[in-house]
Amino acid sequence: MSDSARYDLIIVGGGMVGVSLALALARRGLRMALVEAHVPGADSQPSYDDRAIALAYGTRRIFEAIDVWPSLQPRVEAITDIHVSDRGHFGFTRLHAADEGVPALGYVVTARELGRVLLDQLQRDASLDIVAPARVLNFVDQGDSVEVEIERDGVVTTLACSLLVAADGGDSMIRESLDIPVQRWQYGQSAIVANITPSHAHNNVAYERFTDTGPVALLPMSEGRCALVWTVRDDMVDDVMALDDTAFLRRFQDRFGHRLGRFKRVGKRASYALSLLRARQFVRGRVAIIGNAAHTLHPIAGQGFNLGIRDVAALAEVIDTGFARGDDIGSTEALAAYVKWRTAEQRNVALATDALARLFSNPLGPLRVGRNLGLLAMEFVPGAKHSLARAAMGMAGRQPRLARGKALG
Ligand SMILES: Cc1cc2nc3c(=O)[nH]c(=O)nc-3n(C[C@H](O)[C@H](O)[C@H](O)COP(=O)(O)OP(=O)(O)OC[C@H]3O[C@@H](n4cnc5c(N)ncnc54)[C@H](O)[C@@H]3O)c2cc1C
Repeated sequence: MSDSARYDLIIVGGGMVGVSLALALARRGLRMALVEAHVPGADSQPSYDDRAIALAYGTRRIFEAIDVWPSLQPRVEAITDIHVSDRGHFGFTRLHAADEGVPALGYVVTARELGRVLLDQLQRDASLDIVAPARVLNFVDQGDSVEVEIERDGVVTTLACSLLVAADGGDSMIRESLDIPVQRWQYGQSAIVANITPSHAHNNVAYERFTDTGPVALLPMSEGRCALVWTVRDDMVDDVMALDDTAFLRRFQDRFGHRLGRFKRVGKRASYALSLLRARQFVRGRVAIIGNAAHTLHPIAGQGFNLGIRDVAALAEVIDTGFARGDDIGSTEALAAYVKWRTAEQRNVALATDALARLFSNPLGPLRVGRNLGLLAMEFVPGAKHSLARAAMGMAGRQPRLARGKALG
């Protein structure tokens, strides 16, 4: 194998998580390649479609540390308050940025805009080889390195690396080839997403409303619009998608109520089937699995990418520290630190998201009373809201350097 085909690190997947890792490690002296199946920035890349992504405040700090925030900030809308309620019932709770001493609890941006910012920065960074459009076909862990077989324009080549990072999404070919056991939950639900314009100003409040057919989220966006994430049972999706705009607005108004006045306009709709997946192992040999490849969550709590970028912050720190010391960054010892760091949070966020999705989609009377009491307790038990807000902002537990807003090194 020629010397030029040998890397310290190969990242497979140029979605938000893979690109964030590449940017976090840029200019740290590693020989890196990123392999992506689509042409970066092409409209056909599903990672960067029109869905709205709520970025937690903790994610902003990571973006500040890796220099992405200055370009992203003009494109985001702040969430200063979150209002959580149960449709037609008494329970509700509210979280306020001011109570937490932060300028915003989070920010909303479309995946497309986020993709533009991340990919622009990646293109400017000459310290990385971008291998795209190209697909990883196979890989072999040789013990002291990993050989990765890649097809590009019909030509198959082999690259080698000390560490292979799988950021290849929920259907991860790498996770599946390694036969890593997964826990899967099917919800029989889909998320319908669209931009929607209410008659009242959203005042930067995000609404999370639980209804008997599934949760509804409305996130503040620019020009008075809100991003709607409406979870419906799979047997209702075709019906709801087929409604004309007027009937759709009427149906949604009935679900959400009139807290934001009358919904006047709705944009293009898209639907996503929902499932939750958690890999029971996210390191095997010289391969580390991150982002949706390791955990694909129900979007109810807007945690999928936020959890993925915290994987990035921890893994980048482990790699950078090991590399600076001259250690083998793909060794079992090096990766054990990453596993130790991320296991509890990955499990807790996946289980909490699953519990929320189930509890708040269940129309049974006793459960409904219980969850309303839970929401009220959140409002009145001292400290409960603060803990919820810290977790929602991605600021609970031990934080990697990048998550504290500090650059590596
Ligand atoms: C409706 C909806 C709303 C959401 N809202 C939020 C939210 O508000 N907040 C939040 O934090 N998260 C949210 N999420 C989750 C978030 O979108 C995902 O967590 C995030 O996009 C995952 O990024 P990723 O890079 O891990 O994976 P992906 O985006 O799936 O990227 C994987 C990449 O790998 C490439 N690839 C795959 N196989 C190969 C191969 N063999 N060779 C080369 N390349 C390959 C693919 O082309 C792709 O570009 C939402 C998700 C949905 C569906």
